[in-house]
Amino acid sequence: MKHAARPLSTLVICAAAAACSGGAPSPTPGVDTSAATGGVTLSAPAARRDSTLRVLVYHDMEGLSGQDDYRTFNYSHPEFYRKGQEYLAGDINAVVDGLFAGGATKVEIVDAHGSGNPSPDLIPAKLDPRATQLTRDSAFRQYVDIVAPDSYDAIVAVGMHAKTGSRGFASHTYTIGIDLWMNGHSITETELVAYSWGRAGVPVIFVSGDDRLADDLKTMPWIQYVVTKKATSANTVELRNVDSVRAEMKTKAADAVRRLADAKVTRLREPVRAAIRVVPPARLSMLRGVPGVELSPEGNQVSFEAKDFQAAYDGLISLIGVATLAYPAVRDEVIRDHPDSASIRRLQRERLMMRWFDVESGRWNPPPAPAPAPGRKYYGAQ
Ligand SMILES: [Zn+2]
Repeated sequence: MKHAARPLSTLVICAAAAACSGGAPSPTPGVDTSAATGGVTLSAPAARRDSTLRVLVYHDMEGLSGQDDYRTFNYSHPEFYRKGQEYLAGDINAVVDGLFAGGATKVEIVDAHGSGNPSPDLIPAKLDPRATQLTRDSAFRQYVDIVAPDSYDAIVAVGMHAKTGSRGFASHTYTIGIDLWMNGHSITETELVAYSWGRAGVPVIFVSGDDRLADDLKTMPWIQYVVTKKATSANTVELRNVDSVRAEMKTKAADAVRRLADAKVTRLREPVRAAIRVVPPARLSMLRGVPGVELSPEGNQVSFEAKDFQAAYDGLISLIGVATLAYPAVRDEVIRDHPDSASIRRLQRERLMMRWFDVESGRWNPPPAPAPAPGRKYYGAQ
C-alpha cells in the first residue's frame, strides 16, 4: 500500500446548503430531508508516503470553454461535434499542464460524456503526450467500475454540467430529465464521482463548468473551480474569453495539486436513502400502483433505501432505464407531424402484429448482440 493508514478526524457536514443555513430543505416528497444534515462525511485524504501523485481526469462535454452550441457535444452533428472535440482537447490540455506544474507525476483521462461516437471524444493525437487515456478491453461504467484503492491520489473533472433544474447550459443528471437524490440531497454528476471515489479515500480537487454548476458545488468548497461560461438558458450562454479561462485552468489545476492535503474525501453515510425525480421527457408514472414501489403522489419520483452507494447507484440506474422509456413519445410527435405519418403508423402497426404472430408461432428469435470489433479499446462512456 502506498498510503500510510492513520486515524483521521472525520467531520459530518450538511449535504444540502439549505439545511446548513437553517432554511427549509427542498420539500421533495419521499426523500428524507432530515438526512441532509448528516448524509455525507468529510475526511482528509490519507498522507502520501512518496513523491508520486496520480490524477484521474474525468471529462464531460457540456461545460467546455468557447462552447455555446449544443450540437458541439452531439456526434449526430459531425461538423459541429468536431469543433467540440477541439474545445475539449484545449480545456483538457490546459488542465493537464497545470496538474503537472503542480506536481502530478501521472495523469490519466477517462471519457464520461457519451456522445454516441464509438471512438473517444478526446482525439488521442491531440492529448498532451505527458498524459494518457484510460482504456479497458471491455465496456465499463466510468463512475463505478474503475474505483479501486491506491489507484489514484486525486480526481479532476473537466467540462462538467449543472444538475437537472439548476438552469445551467445543458443541465441534466446522467441523462435528460433525471434528478438524482442521495441522503436527502439532489446531486450533480460531479458529486456522484466524489461519492464513488470517496469509497477509495480519494478526493475531487478541481472542476470546470458553467456558473450554475459552480453554485451546485458550493457543498464542496475545497474544489478549485473554473467558470467557463455563464448560462443564460439551457441552450444559450455568455462566453468568457477562452485564453483567460484556460490560463485560469492551468493556475487552479496546479493549486489543486499543491493543496491536495486540504481537499476532503466525500463519503455517503450508509444505508443510503436514494430517490429519482423526473421531468419531461422522462416519466415514472407508469409505476403507479405497483406494490412495494415508493412512488410520490405526483407520480414523478421513486425513492428507496439501499445498503451502500453501489446499491443506490445500481437501483437509480435501473430506474433511469424505466424513466427514459418515455423518450419515444417525442419521436411519436415527430411522426405525427410528418407528411408520411399515416403510412409510417401503418408500417409500425403491421410490424407490431407480425412480431406478435411470429413470437406466438415460435418463429422469432431476438437478434444476437453485435460482436465487439476485435482489439477494440473502451475509453468510458462514449
Ligand atoms: Zn455529457
